[in-house]
Amino acid sequence: MPNIQLPAACALCPRRCGADRAAGQRGFCGAGDTLLAARAALHHWEEPCLSGAPEDARGSGTVFFTGCGLRCCYCQNYAISQQGAGRPLTTARLRDIFLELQAQGAYNLNLVTATQWLPWVLPALADARRRGLTLPVVYNTGGYETEDTVRALAGDVDIWLTDLKYAAPALAARLSGAQDYPAVAGTALRRMLLQTGAPVWDGAMLRRGVIVRHLVLPGQAEDSLAVLRQLAGLRRETGVPFLLSLMCQFTPFYKAAEQGLARRVTSYEYRKVVNEAVRLGLTEGYMQQKSSAREEYTPAFDGTGL
Ligand code: SF4
Repeated sequence: MPNIQLPAACALCPRRCGADRAAGQRGFCGAGDTLLAARAALHHWEEPCLSGAPEDARGSGTVFFTGCGLRCCYCQNYAISQQGAGRPLTTARLRDIFLELQAQGAYNLNLVTATQWLPWVLPALADARRRGLTLPVVYNTGGYETEDTVRALAGDVDIWLTDLKYAAPALAARLSGAQDYPAVAGTALRRMLLQTGAPVWDGAMLRRGVIVRHLVLPGQAEDSLAVLRQLAGLRRETGVPFLLSLMCQFTPFYKAAEQGLARRVTSYEYRKVVNEAVRLGLTEGYMQQKSSAREEYTPAFDGTGL
């Protein structure tokens, strides 16, 4: 198995906090010199082209990693993204987890917020492939990625499952602590589209391509409209189609209320955003019905499958 090489000054994510993780220092994202994850299991709550139908026993083979380069005040997974919940793993154990998920019948391998752990994840993937891993790899990200990281993953990631959260820098600063999010995520998404290309299907399941998620926030429909215009521009500029997953599941988790996000999204707000997506021709993908259990499901971060 290749040696793990952590840079002396970490710049794996756009935060570029420069932590000397090899020396045991923890970065802004909370990651240090020991790989941490919180759950590895078949997951039934992603988009149907990744998880299958709700009654499908297979699901997406999902690994939830600890830490994140963003600080979203409404994060549904805040226990692992910002509070450090997780268990230590070796690269060899991560490789075996990937193979176990395949043996359980997963449609794909779904890596949730993995960037801070790439020095472990990439060797584990390579070793798992040598031992028979053939699943498509889904890179499940908040969209805050460097272009270098996206490029480095070109041969390893089949499906980008990425957010485009904000258009306004001030909103990104207030809600996720990342004023540069709109510019950074837009550049990263452009690179994802160019290197991954149009969706490739295996029946009803996605084999390759980009899914862009956008969560509509209460009181922020105008910003959502700007995000959609940015997406339509990227679609025109790159010529690469993608799936849009327009979500209305916002629930005031964690510190959301402190930032004025104390309610759900209204039907009027969501409809306004959907109408704009249709007007812009962004009709390939998914729109949610309000208040289904599917939308509100958060898995237990209890070490299952690790
Ligand atoms: S991945 Fe973590 S340690 Fe590395 S630059 Fe980003 S926040 Fe800092």
